[in-house]
Amino acid sequence: MRVLLSEQELSKGVDRIAAEITACYGRRPLTIVAVMTGSLVFLADLIRRLEMPIRVSLIQASSYRGGTSSGELSINDEIMLEIHDRDVLVIDDIFDTGKTLSEIMRRLWLERPTSVRSVVLLRKTGCQLVNDQPDFVAFEIPNEFVVGYGLDYEDLYRNLPFVAALQPSDLQAHHSV
Ligand code: 5GP
Ligand code: MG
Repeated sequence: MRVLLSEQELSKGVDRIAAEITACYGRRPLTIVAVMTGSLVFLADLIRRLEMPIRVSLIQASSYRGGTSSGELSINDEIMLEIHDRDVLVIDDIFDTGKTLSEIMRRLWLERPTSVRSVVLLRKTGCQLVNDQPDFVAFEIPNEFVVGYGLDYEDLYRNLPFVAALQPSDLQAHHSV
């Protein structure tokens, strides 16, 4: 594995993005909608740097059927909080083609919130297939499959404190476990 973002770089990036979000909302109450499961580590670190009143809610989206290639998108919003007349901030781990986030944003607008913005930890440069971009981006990364700090490969590696690009040799080692 090749480390792309160290623990210290991630921490600085989350500080920076928390400051941008604070500059945008001030003391206004915010409803967070975090996209499971990849955003959970980012969520935990980010909300502890925000000081406005915050409600935390979860939504599940999976566009990957195991492995590193994209499959059909499924979204489960059954456990999401009420967001009518609320300022909503969607948190996701990574913006790749952008299809997941733009579909989630479309669904959330149907609930008539006051506003919906989005924040992602990572954006892959040059992979986007949609027009909408996230409102806040902590880091731009090259087009490589990454794991760690919440992101998985076949449900593993989420607990790594850094973000790393998986190498072909890692995949071999992974499958011989
Ligand atoms: P999109 O719909 O933007 O193409 O894909 C977004 C979702 O795909 C992310 O929320 C994430 O779950 C997954 N994804 C995209 N790229 C990567 C990657 O490099 N590593 C991991 N672990 N997941 C990724
Ligand atoms: Mg995801």
